[in-house]
Amino acid sequence: MQSIEQLNYISTYYELGRAFGSQVNPTPLQSPYLIHANHGLAKRLGISLDNPQPLIELFSGQQQLPKWHPLAMKYTGHQFGHYNPDLGDGRGLLLSEFIDRNNNKWDMHLKGSGKTPYSRSGDGRAVIRSSVREYLVSAAMQGLGIETTQALALIGSKTEVEREDIEYAATLLRIAPTHIRFGHFEYLFYSGQSHLISGLVEHLLRWHLPHLSERQNKYELFYKAVISNTATMLAKWQAYGFYHGVMNTDNMSILGQTLDYGPFAFMETYDPGFSANHSDYEGRYVFHRQPAVAHWNLSALGYALSSLIDKEIIESALQDYPQQLQLHYTQLMCQRFGLTTTQTSDSDMLNRCLTLMQSHKLDYHYTLRRLSELDYAQWYAQSDWQHPNWITWLKQYQHRLEQDHLSDSERQQTMCAVNPRYLLRTHLAQQAIDEVEAGNFGIIEQWLQVLSDPFVEHPCHSDWALPNHNNNQGIILSCSS
Ligand code: AMP
Ligand code: MG
Repeated sequence: MQSIEQLNYISTYYELGRAFGSQVNPTPLQSPYLIHANHGLAKRLGISLDNPQPLIELFSGQQQLPKWHPLAMKYTGHQFGHYNPDLGDGRGLLLSEFIDRNNNKWDMHLKGSGKTPYSRSGDGRAVIRSSVREYLVSAAMQGLGIETTQALALIGSKTEVEREDIEYAATLLRIAPTHIRFGHFEYLFYSGQSHLISGLVEHLLRWHLPHLSERQNKYELFYKAVISNTATMLAKWQAYGFYHGVMNTDNMSILGQTLDYGPFAFMETYDPGFSANHSDYEGRYVFHRQPAVAHWNLSALGYALSSLIDKEIIESALQDYPQQLQLHYTQLMCQRFGLTTTQTSDSDMLNRCLTLMQSHKLDYHYTLRRLSELDYAQWYAQSDWQHPNWITWLKQYQHRLEQDHLSDSERQQTMCAVNPRYLLRTHLAQQAIDEVEAGNFGIIEQWLQVLSDPFVEHPCHSDWALPNHNNNQGIILSCSS
């Protein structure tokens, strides 16, 4: 295990050249303190976080290591369908990169680190509220097996920032193989620097897709890999009811990892038209539109790559996306419903259940978890499943499950392993924020334990496994963070 100071730091992105960002030092926070250090993640990376003092100093902007070259990455992107040339890391910095003991490269990105040339009118800060949400959801996504950036440390401070109210600033140390986004390519393309695009692709091939780097048609294969990784991510979002909220092309990771958590939410009462971003007036990013939005974003990326790859190849690669996504989504849903074989009528049966959940206003995850945990006899005794339509569906579903020749208890076990007992519901994340703001940081560790394996029972508050009875009334999510 190595301490933060001892890591094998490198600067591969910095070495790409001046076009790719601006050198900026973090602006120190006032009176910083450690809210949480993610020892589980650190252990996987071979890092020891035992000494909190360097974490506070290094991740609050008070100190730097000699090998670091902090950089605000330059990118642009389509926001709500409109191209914005003025984006980039406006409140974050790529502090450095390091190679772990397995020879993997990781970015260390400090979110909330102060103003940069890309801050526009923003203050360069992130508040405790949004940082706690990102910290927890990174662990939640990881626990659900959905590709995501991760969070290594969370620092609070006495630096005041103005949002709807005065709040305190925080920083979050984000870890990901790379923070390169679709928007990096759009920036090079629209600013007349297309000649630099192949260098950026080569960089990604070298570090993240080495199996493609010697292939003759590597650029085409690179684009196809982005499409297939994005399709996989979207399939998982849809199957696990994850709503991102701000699917602009600058928030799309080139590796298909969930990136830039803002007004995200997990679907609670089943509703495909669900949205939690109250700034998305036109409903562009509502839950059921996410797959199509990602497709649109992939075509924007394809356009930016048109100097490297033939237009026909881009178009035909894009055509494969809906099918890839559908295939993966169906597999995940069949798994969640405990099906171990395939029948042509399965999709219809699952969809009938979703429609019933929607019309009976049932909680998506809680319903699936109860179908998983309860035995057949218990199903029919549930008070909210007494409607004749439900009973009919339950009987058909039971009949279908029995054709797979698993015993009822084997079926329960299989389903419990893929249907989470715990979910980072909006009101629960809010309770955690309230606790942190009251100085009770232990809540974060408790949640991390639960979220790292949400499929098994944990010794925590029993409400954590239940839906919100108030249906999130009074909790408003906006882009303000
Ligand atoms: P987002 O859609 O939240 O990921 O952010 C869009 C753009 O706004 C990015 O360039 C961010 O870096 C920038 N941004 C967001 N919040 C702030 C802030 N408080 N200060 C400066 N820039 C910000
Ligand atoms: Mg962003």
